[in-house]
Amino acid sequence: MIPRVVVLLVLAAVGALAVLAFRPPAPVADAPPAEFAAGRAERHLEAVAQRPHPIGSADGERVRDYVADTARRLGAEVTVESDEVVVPWRGVARVATAHNVVARVRGTDPSVSAGKALLLVAHHDSVPTGPGAADDGAAVAAMLETLRALTTGGVRNDVVFLFTDGEEAGSLGARAYVRRHGVDGVGAVLNWEARGSGGPVWMFQTGPGNGPLVSAFGGASSRPIANSFAYEVYRRMPNYSDFTVFQEAGARGLDSAFIEHVRDYHSPHDDVERLDRGSLQHHGETMVGLVRALGDRDLRAGGGDAVYFDLFSRVLVRYPTWFAVALAAVTVVALASLLVLGVRSGRLRWRAVLAVAGVAVGAVVVAGAVSFGAWLLVAAARPGLGFLALSEPPERGWFVAGSCLLGLAALVAAARVARRWSTAEVVAGALVVTAVLLVASAVAVPGASFLFQWTLLTGLPALATPRAASLPPLVAAAIFPPLVGTMMVALGMPLSAVAVVFGALAGVLLLPLLPSGSWWPAVGVTAVAVALLATGTARFGFTPDQPRPDSLIYLRDTATGRSSWLSPDPAPDAWTSRVLGANPERLASAHPVSTGPVMRADAPDLDLPTPTATALTSPIPPSPDLTSPDGPARTVTFRITPTARAWRTHVTLSERGLRGCRIGPTDLPSTTLELYGPSSRDLTCHLAPGTPLEVTVADQWVGLPAEAAALVGPRPPDTMPVQSGNRPFDGAVVRATFQL
Ligand SMILES: [Zn+2]
Repeated sequence: MIPRVVVLLVLAAVGALAVLAFRPPAPVADAPPAEFAAGRAERHLEAVAQRPHPIGSADGERVRDYVADTARRLGAEVTVESDEVVVPWRGVARVATAHNVVARVRGTDPSVSAGKALLLVAHHDSVPTGPGAADDGAAVAAMLETLRALTTGGVRNDVVFLFTDGEEAGSLGARAYVRRHGVDGVGAVLNWEARGSGGPVWMFQTGPGNGPLVSAFGGASSRPIANSFAYEVYRRMPNYSDFTVFQEAGARGLDSAFIEHVRDYHSPHDDVERLDRGSLQHHGETMVGLVRALGDRDLRAGGGDAVYFDLFSRVLVRYPTWFAVALAAVTVVALASLLVLGVRSGRLRWRAVLAVAGVAVGAVVVAGAVSFGAWLLVAAARPGLGFLALSEPPERGWFVAGSCLLGLAALVAAARVARRWSTAEVVAGALVVTAVLLVASAVAVPGASFLFQWTLLTGLPALATPRAASLPPLVAAAIFPPLVGTMMVALGMPLSAVAVVFGALAGVLLLPLLPSGSWWPAVGVTAVAVALLATGTARFGFTPDQPRPDSLIYLRDTATGRSSWLSPDPAPDAWTSRVLGANPERLASAHPVSTGPVMRADAPDLDLPTPTATALTSPIPPSPDLTSPDGPARTVTFRITPTARAWRTHVTLSERGLRGCRIGPTDLPSTTLELYGPSSRDLTCHLAPGTPLEVTVADQWVGLPAEAAALVGPRPPDTMPVQSGNRPFDGAVVRATFQL
């Protein structure tokens, strides 16, 4: 019999291999013309990601022109579609002109899919706070390089490269495209995103009828990373991307992204220098592979849903969902039969099997609770972590390893508790837990069933011979470690305990193998875990290389005559305290800067340009309008004019007597608006007769104006401005109120 320590070392090696394999391919500087080369895509990236280029900005126009010109030069039929969009978004109407770049490469025989095209989608806009090299410049550059590769040898279907505008403002361009074209002409949508500046590209979202697309994805790149568990998780989360717009309209497709280094996401560090070139290569390899795989196929071909997962990031295992459910049923029946036989033969006792299962579940609960508690302690000791996106420290490895070892310690302790029962009973108890999870997933979330299917199936022989007890953990070691790691990246450190629980569910299969002679192994693993967490906590700090994101906003309100410094940070730091002081006033929110708590201090009044709202009709209430269905009404048409530096302008309309407003041909869905870009816009409102309309206009500038920056002085090198998700960032807000 192989010594137990050797078995454990082999398991650790398999797990390490699975984690090491989970990385993007090496970037290729040059490649044959039909293939993708990150080196060639990089030239596009450098052009796109020079500076922030949000929707409505001059840099946005520059990027759009570059993309359109390049696609045209490469031989595509290019149109720039400009659409006015008014999109309701969490109680606010977002108003913008979206300019989508649509580049079509004609297929050699589009009748193969009755004219339906393969649609590749990436957004050409960025957030205002970062140059967007990863999000979504890498995908834009990779799509241009894919377009070039496609021209070396066409495919039968039309391929449309859609570069959308305003994704960051709420998928405005994608909505405009769907409104204009519908999705009838779309055979499949391939959307490309980033939430961080590195890591492998993984396909995390698809939709019903995904079988044929998943199968194409499996052969598209050297590293087809995807699993149907992620898809089940993701479709239950409130995340939104361009892909969602197409999916809601009824299109089928795949959504892929790289998500590591979230610290760079939406920040000034999302630049060309920091972008992982491997991620760029992985984006492009997958694009070219999918275009070749799907380009010649009938895109209308149906197919059921698939259960799928990759092994060592190299092979995509996939089978139909009906097969997964049937196999689960057969496996659970087989387990039940073997258990009955085992009990009849006297090798197993029901009470013992159930007791082991109870201990295993207890270990999972303890693993989650302890790692969650440990993170609370770390966060309390280092409040600065709260400044970071997903509280993810630059040296996250200490915390990841520490949390995982805490989970392992719980399992080792459980093995000690379980030593009073026979090895066969411990194996059986762990398999019963796995079987319950398999049944639950097969019934409720079939896409997750693979997590427990293959460990349970390979565990059945262990009921006959304990020598086979190392098989299920071996399967788990190949499947789980990259999933646990990715879960920690996706959820962030505060929720890393969820990933620990998830890993522990597979870890219970280790119970027959873990040392159970004494409590010392559990104590030892706990001590190592604590040492790792303590080291990470002690080493954490902000430096010029790992700056602290903070923000400072100058607010000028011409209506009240009061000017303020505001910051949504948890506490003042060396920079913000220069104007906020040590004990700033605390507000629950400050519209339109933040819906969350902010710090506030008085600021001197600076003479900044002010946005305006001017009536285009007579300000005196006119004679009753008898055509209105609500009886006599007052109609006001007015123009909002942002200042040149505004990237976004908030407009709030008084609700008293207001019957409705229109912008262009569209009825406004709310009385709060966000206008993107500095162009002026005309609105018409209907009110009860004699009612004045109060309009508050607030310009949002990116970055502090020079006058305000001079008051606070330069940023220390260990801080940087950031927008993480929807967090407010350095800027100025100039607010004015008008009676019309
Ligand atoms: Zn994006």
